[in-house]
Amino acid sequence: MLTYIVLLGPPGAGKGTQSKVMANELNLPHISTGDIFRENIKNGTPLGRLADTFISKGQLVPDDVTIAMLRERFTQSDCKNGTILDGFPRTPTQADELEILLNSLGGRVNLVLFITAPVESLIERLAGRWTCKAGGHIFHESFNPPKKKGVCDIDGSELFQRDDDKAETVLNRIEIYKKQTSPLIQYYTERGLLVEINGFESIEKVSAQVMAAVQEAKNSQP
Ligand code: ADP
Ligand code: ADP
Repeated sequence: MLTYIVLLGPPGAGKGTQSKVMANELNLPHISTGDIFRENIKNGTPLGRLADTFISKGQLVPDDVTIAMLRERFTQSDCKNGTILDGFPRTPTQADELEILLNSLGGRVNLVLFITAPVESLIERLAGRWTCKAGGHIFHESFNPPKKKGVCDIDGSELFQRDDDKAETVLNRIEIYKKQTSPLIQYYTERGLLVEINGFESIEKVSAQVMAAVQEAKNSQP
């Protein structure tokens, strides 16, 4: 049964937006390591304080910290039928660890959706991104505006702009993506799991591609 789906792509490609669509359609939990870090930062936990020193510079949080956090998340029972993984893995070491973790649960990565978009559009999207404080719902001031400025349509909570979406941090994050995360394109291509999605279309058109890829992967499974 198709269960563990990974979303791969540069910052701003639309991973979070499409994860939420898939999580609803497939009734699977959406696990965003970025959201878990931000929750820890908001609550002032030791993990949050450590993660913030990297996130604020646009750098990746070290693998050992991130992997331990994901392992902990996977001890929760909602993960046993599968998950939508958004922003993890981000390095080949994390991908190796994910394989070990899923093996121990009797599962494996079933599909990797690699969402692409031109760099100029990534910058434009991140500059206008507004995120909801309570549920991490994602809006854009021009491309997906909330009905009421500054308020989440879904749960009514306040929307905020992420500190790491500042132009200079964004450029750094894109560079880090190229150096540290893009090797995963080859990693998952070699394993026959990667499907490329053109993220430079409307949110609805990207969702249609995503759901078609999920259906095709399901059909091709024994
Ligand atoms: P985006 O989806 O816009 O690229 P995320 O919310 O996924 O951003 O991540 C925000 C930041 O959190 C990253 O820039 C990085 O510092 C940290 N982070 C998130 N996931 C990971 C990960 N798997 N490994 C290391 N750092 C991570
Ligand atoms: P990521 O998780 O890959 O960093 P997000 O899903 O958070 O990306 O999207 C980044 C920003 O771009 C958000 O403001 C979102 O509303 C907007 N966005 C996402 N997908 C599209 C799209 N296909 N077209 C235009 N804007 C988009």
